[in-house]
Amino acid sequence: MTYKRVLLKISGEALADIDEAGHPQNLSNRMLHKIAADIQAATQAGVQVCIVIGGGNIFRGDKGSQVLGIDRTTCDYMGMMATVINALALQNAVEQNSMVCRVMTAIPMKAIGEDYVRRRAISHMEKGRVVIFAAGSGNPFFTTDTAAALRALEMDCDLLLKATKVNGVYDKDPVKHQDAQHYTHLSYSDILADRLGVMDATAVALLREHKLPLAVFSIFEQNGFANVLAGKGKYTLISEA
Ligand code: UDP
Repeated sequence: MTYKRVLLKISGEALADIDEAGHPQNLSNRMLHKIAADIQAATQAGVQVCIVIGGGNIFRGDKGSQVLGIDRTTCDYMGMMATVINALALQNAVEQNSMVCRVMTAIPMKAIGEDYVRRRAISHMEKGRVVIFAAGSGNPFFTTDTAAALRALEMDCDLLLKATKVNGVYDKDPVKHQDAQHYTHLSYSDILADRLGVMDATAVALLREHKLPLAVFSIFEQNGFANVLAGKGKYTLISEA
């Protein structure tokens, strides 16, 4: 399968790290450049790339609301702002890796990014530019997983790739269980029925309805993104049974 256009979903936590002194960092230069290099490898293979970035390394609406006692809607807007911070950091790293990159925000923020306009986003990608979609869907009570499914459909992508900490979907947590079994292929219904926690249910339901395949792979593997596009390496493909 050769892919023309794909969407990469990166969780905010993928941008976090531990520094040399053992302190947690919300944003890591090392991870930003690692991800940018992976994106470069994919674009060099001729694939058009757009990205939805999460914000969980900085702020999540549900947890923030519980801890701070601020209403959920406001907290979700705060979470969407967190994704914009990540988008700007990633844009910088992508550009430092010799690519042209545009940030488009679902909530207008003209001073720092373009308003999200579907046709303009497609036009950027056709010119070889990387597009980062920030501020999720622009609506509270959604996640960036759902925003990723939505944008991938709007952009007419051939594949949605979700970068996680492990190289695919397992029957149990492979970090805690040595005998965890890796799945090479699953159906959307498997994911929903077994509550495998790969992606939120709204996103998976959207992908199932429109038959858009999803690949789950590890953000830590070198060229993991390009490898999935080439059908190489270890990952899980989720599509129709
Ligand atoms: N968010 C939202 N609407 C969206 C996308 C995100 O309200 O369409 C908010 C929500 O509060 C969420 C936060 O932004 O907790 C950060 O996104 P997410 O938790 O999906 O980030 P990730 O887990 O991928 O880092």
